[in-house]
Amino acid sequence: MAFFGKDRTLFKVFGIPVNVNLSWLFLVALVMFTLAEGWFPQHLEEPSVGLRWLLGFVGTMGLFACLLIHELAHSLVARRTGMPVAGITLFIFGGVSQLQDEPPTAPAEFFMAIVGPASSIFLGIGFLILWFLGSAVGWDPAIVALAHYLWIINFVLAAFNLMPAFPLDGGRVVRSVLWALTNNLRAATNVAANIGAFFGIALIVLGVIMTLQVDVLGGLWFIIIGFFLRQAAMSSLQMVVIRQQLQGETVRRFMTTDVVVVPRDLTVQDFVNEFVFHHRFSYYPVVDEEGRLLGMVSSRAPRELDREEWADKLVDELMKGLDQCVTIHPDMDAVDALSFLRQRDENRAVVVEHDRAVGMLSLRDLLRFLAIKIDLEPRGSMN
Ligand SMILES: [Zn+2]
Repeated sequence: MAFFGKDRTLFKVFGIPVNVNLSWLFLVALVMFTLAEGWFPQHLEEPSVGLRWLLGFVGTMGLFACLLIHELAHSLVARRTGMPVAGITLFIFGGVSQLQDEPPTAPAEFFMAIVGPASSIFLGIGFLILWFLGSAVGWDPAIVALAHYLWIINFVLAAFNLMPAFPLDGGRVVRSVLWALTNNLRAATNVAANIGAFFGIALIVLGVIMTLQVDVLGGLWFIIIGFFLRQAAMSSLQMVVIRQQLQGETVRRFMTTDVVVVPRDLTVQDFVNEFVFHHRFSYYPVVDEEGRLLGMVSSRAPRELDREEWADKLVDELMKGLDQCVTIHPDMDAVDALSFLRQRDENRAVVVEHDRAVGMLSLRDLLRFLAIKIDLEPRGSMN
């Protein structure tokens, strides 16, 4: 979810990190407000402000617990079928499980996709029974109104996710069926992603109509979700194409090997004169006397010091240690390297072999390599 800024890990369940994005707080506030000012005043007889907001808080937490169960179901099945899961992220549109690879088989994808909505339906039925029982037996109206909200929202969650719009769960189900029928993941993704993009546009149109018909807030929400869905469909398709093109390639194939290393005991003044002004790289590996990699120094790092200090300070005071650098091995699989960079929100990594910096890998190089490869290949043979 780099698009929405950095994620933070809240806690771990079954070893799966649950991350939140800053944008999630907006959704929390929105849900809590709608519950405290809309749902509970409508379903309870004149609740006090304190009670409404307390219930709003409990309802919001309940919703997110249900959302988490939905995502956990996806993640646990994904892990079972051998797909690594980087974590679950809660963000402005709900939750998402971060899979690090495409599903291994069509049935695996089908099962992985369907357990999410299935768990939401299961939860919905549970709360429906509670609500029914509670109203019949005469429980506290606050509890009944809470159960009422939770069964409805779980069914809404299941219905929304079952839309046949890739990469939503329903779209994944469609893709897995097409994949099983055609035995061609790329063609299946192409169809599913186009349906997803179509749904995105349909939501945008619906949102515009709603906006014109007084429901401005609801309409805007649909428009935003529509854009997001369309974007997600297109980038998932891109990822499949990229993964297929990179299959079987190693980092060594497209790393740049003209690495310019900086000795650790160089003064900052000499670093600026002899390296920054000469080479125009944005990062330089820093090495010790034997040429072993110690860390990286940015060409902008000298700005952290006063100019008078440049002659006395050494480069190793400005460098970031290895623990803060993204390093990869030249024999690493290219697809793994790509997801490794994306996960860490990084554009580049140092390629290290036997403690030495042997190259640099940047997303730009990867993309250039892909463009050339696709360009050189005859059209029909890209599966
Ligand atoms: Zn889902």
